Amino acid sequence: MAIDFTLPPDVEAVRARVRDFMDSEVRPAEEKLYANASGGEPDRREVVGMILELRQRAKDWGVWLPHMPTEWGGVGLGITAMAFVAAESARTNFGPFVLNAQAPDEGNQHTLLHHATPDQQERYLRPLLEGRVRSCFAMTEPEVAGSDPTGIRTAAVLDEAAGEWVINGHKWFISGARGAGFAILIAKTDPDADPPQASNTAFLVDLPADGWEVVRDVETMAGRGNHCEIRITDLRVPDANVLGGRGNGHLLGQARLGPARLAHCMRWIGQVETALELLVARAEERQLHGQPLAEKQAIQWMMADSAMELYAAKLMVLHAAYKIEHDLPFRQEVSFAKHHVANTLWRVVDRAIQVHGALGYSTDTPLERMLRHARSARLVDGADEVHQALIARNVRRAYAETGSIRSATGDLEL
Ligand SMILES: Cc1cc2nc3c(=O)[nH]c(=O)nc-3n(C[C@H](O)[C@H](O)[C@H](O)COP(=O)(O)OP(=O)(O)OC[C@H]3O[C@@H](n4cnc5c(N)ncnc54)[C@H](O)[C@@H]3O)c2cc1C
Repeated sequence: MAIDFTLPPDVEAVRARVRDFMDSEVRPAEEKLYANASGGEPDRREVVGMILELRQRAKDWGVWLPHMPTEWGGVGLGITAMAFVAAESARTNFGPFVLNAQAPDEGNQHTLLHHATPDQQERYLRPLLEGRVRSCFAMTEPEVAGSDPTGIRTAAVLDEAAGEWVINGHKWFISGARGAGFAILIAKTDPDADPPQASNTAFLVDLPADGWEVVRDVETMAGRGNHCEIRITDLRVPDANVLGGRGNGHLLGQARLGPARLAHCMRWIGQVETALELLVARAEERQLHGQPLAEKQAIQWMMADSAMELYAAKLMVLHAAYKIEHDLPFRQEVSFAKHHVANTLWRVVDRAIQVHGALGYSTDTPLERMLRHARSARLVDGADEVHQALIARNVRRAYAETGSIRSATGDLEL
């Protein structure tokens, strides 16, 4: 039997080091930051200052870029090992940023590592990994459904004489756009391509640039998170900045999104754990009718449901990571994980708020902030229904082709 849930000693050492780093460096700095924050949200400049200081410590601790190969200055963890480390880092708010393993940079780092030319890697990946710049990924547009990227209207036309693409369009919800050193921009280059998925191309865009206007930081239910609206007018990009080949924008986006979706799930698991621990702590300490709240069966059901959902989330993420790492088909398992973990996060944080009563509704605990951020998990990286549609399509296909749904339910011999 090859199933073994123990961690190899080198991975366990990194996981333990990351937990130690989060407990002794990141959490105390965050607590200080939030203690000074008025209205629940700390000042952005203070956040950036804290992250920069902690990033240097992350390098000193040997936990910088856990997901990147050692030859690129990382720790060299594979995606399965990374599940453990990402969950540890996300038990704090800014842990992933401190390790330079946050969205969208982490997904862009993987994309550049696997699809950029050596020249592009030196120009874009190297400074990103050294923490000298941030990046963004610009695909979604206000006018068309983000769930169907074939509808993208941002258009790129080749000016052959100049060897440059001229790009016009409109994007929004581009995370990290303000202050980014470059963007990976998805635009339509071949509107008549067959299949339509071959109509989009990815471009590397140096920022700031003439023709790239940050219109606003879209105000969301979680405040301003640097999710920007961008107006693109006659933006000129050299042909050498096409990333991954003309017409491969969709493929590249899909390749990026598999592991990136899973990376989100890993971080959300850390948040779920934090929420469940807060729930349990409050239920044990709060007294009513002469006993702790935790003695009430209704509260125990919340604990039990949360524990089961969290356990299933961990197994789904690990299995999907295993499949990616072993070059096995992984899209179905990533969709299971993405949908399940996003919804688990929402439910567990909501239950923790319920158990805290009025305190949970206040800004005195991190829970209300966690809930506001958690809501986006069911929309980004494919909305719930997109994953459900894909999952159902695979179940139907498996049944039609083999008379069994086994290959579409984890492909496990159970
Ligand atoms: C916080 C945040 C950060 C983001 N960061 C980025 C970023 O950095 N870069 C970027 O390019 N984009 C980003 N996005 C955009 C995100 O990727 C899109 O919101 C997402 O792809 C959905 O697209 P849409 O908003 O246009 O919704 P639509 O595509 O219009 O979908 C609306 C709703 O329709 C339903 N739906 C969709 N498809 C189906 C289906 N097949 N069957 C049934 N129902 C369906 C779902 O309920 C969905 O929520 C971000 C969004 C948020 C909220």
